[in-house]
Amino acid sequence: MLTVVIPVYNEEKQIEKTVSVICEMLQKASEQYQLVLVDDGSRDQTWQVLKSLSDNITGLEAIRFSRNFGKEAAIMAGLSRARGDACVIMDADLQHPPELIPQMLELWKKGIEVVEAVKEDRGRESSFSRLGASLFYKIMHRLSGFNLENASDFKLLDKKVVQALLQMPEKETFFRGLSAWVGYSRAEVFFKVPERETGKSRWSPLKLIRLAIGAFTSFSSLPLQFVTFIGILFLIGSVVLGIQTLAMKLRGLAIGGFTTVILLLLIIGSCLMISLGMIGMYIARIYNEVKARPRFIISEECGHPVTRSSITNP
Ligand code: UDP
Ligand code: MG
Repeated sequence: MLTVVIPVYNEEKQIEKTVSVICEMLQKASEQYQLVLVDDGSRDQTWQVLKSLSDNITGLEAIRFSRNFGKEAAIMAGLSRARGDACVIMDADLQHPPELIPQMLELWKKGIEVVEAVKEDRGRESSFSRLGASLFYKIMHRLSGFNLENASDFKLLDKKVVQALLQMPEKETFFRGLSAWVGYSRAEVFFKVPERETGKSRWSPLKLIRLAIGAFTSFSSLPLQFVTFIGILFLIGSVVLGIQTLAMKLRGLAIGGFTTVILLLLIIGSCLMISLGMIGMYIARIYNEVKARPRFIISEECGHPVTRSSITNP
């Protein structure tokens, strides 16, 4: 059985079409399937649409978060409901072409445990978000050692991998990073990102920045060490400057000097603030993990959770 997990946020116009395309695809591949739709606290009619879909389609389950917990939480919630031998994670807006699923299944049947769909090109995007994404992936590569450039959340995972991901105790997850971190045998398939058919991207710049900081801090503590490094550099600088200042003083040449003082104040002040900020980011993370709150809260569920046996022995 194959499970398809789809995080859904404010997609009332799109989701019905997406589901029908995916179902058609899976029926053609004559695969038994379970569809898990996770409504990430949508504010529009998405939940009503999901409810009526779950009445009409067997094998479709929907769960609804009590508020918007973010795509990462939605994916984890979906995975926790997955009962298939393999699990495909994809977007609700058909920007992850379902035509790729049979190809991914082929690879999985050959024994590959993680099949990643890689963006051949990023589709139509503003140059600002293109630049932001490339900067993010470059830094991420340096910091964590995982090259996620052009990676997407569109993946097929073996049951084992899903279990491994669900065992991660951390509450703030970064799915793309974690699914690289767990290892396993992997293969790639390529796709071109099609245009979004309805609505626009659900990510605001603020949400993206939050995702990026979450990703960095969960995969590397290098920024913290970087702070120490800068500290040492400035210490050396200040020793040199200190000696020079003393020498000037002794030779009776010390006049003015305001520039140096002001410059030093500015540089040291800003470095201190940056360092504190970085430490703050990690402390915030520790704080969030220590609170040990659940990743998400489910407020409603619908559909008939098909158990494996009810599918195989109807
Ligand atoms: N999404 C979500 N919660 C959010 C934002 C987005 O579940 O807070 C879902 C959204 O419904 C879609 C997927 O994540 O299925 C990707 O979102 P979108 O297409 O807006 O992102 P983009 O294609 O621009 O990366
Ligand atoms: Mg999209």
